[in-house]
Amino acid sequence: MLRISGHYSEDGSLGVPDHLNRRERSLNMAAVHSKDTGPEMAVRKIAHALGYRYRLHDPKLPGRPDLVFPSKHKAIFVHGCFWHRHNRCRRASTPKTHEAFWQEKFLGNAARDKSNRRQLKKLGWSVFTVWQCELKNPGRLAERLDEFLAG
Ligand SMILES: [Zn+2]
Repeated sequence: MLRISGHYSEDGSLGVPDHLNRRERSLNMAAVHSKDTGPEMAVRKIAHALGYRYRLHDPKLPGRPDLVFPSKHKAIFVHGCFWHRHNRCRRASTPKTHEAFWQEKFLGNAARDKSNRRQLKKLGWSVFTVWQCELKNPGRLAERLDEFLAG
């Protein structure tokens, strides 16, 4: 049987090439779940294991913190070291090409983060930032989170 590659999906029906379908699917998933990244899920699990209840991404708060503890007026941001420029972290490297572009982007991110933290504090919230690389040592991070949330 002649089969024209790329014009049949797995069930044999004529349609969008299957490899594109798969790719689109994964891109779509990535977009939909962009707020539910690995590090953030890990922090949620730690907070949950410590016995704290939280809300996610409160849109009414500056910067939509990743975890929000409303009764405590405490908020947690989970930041990727690269995008949010973790100070002296080797993950916060600057790409060698288009350096000016990256610098501008990074400066924008850092300024936004700072402004969000400042606004939250003004509104009476305590803010804690978890850096992606801190998840290498979950025990230590759990201790620090517990300290922050219990205080
Ligand atoms: Zn880092």
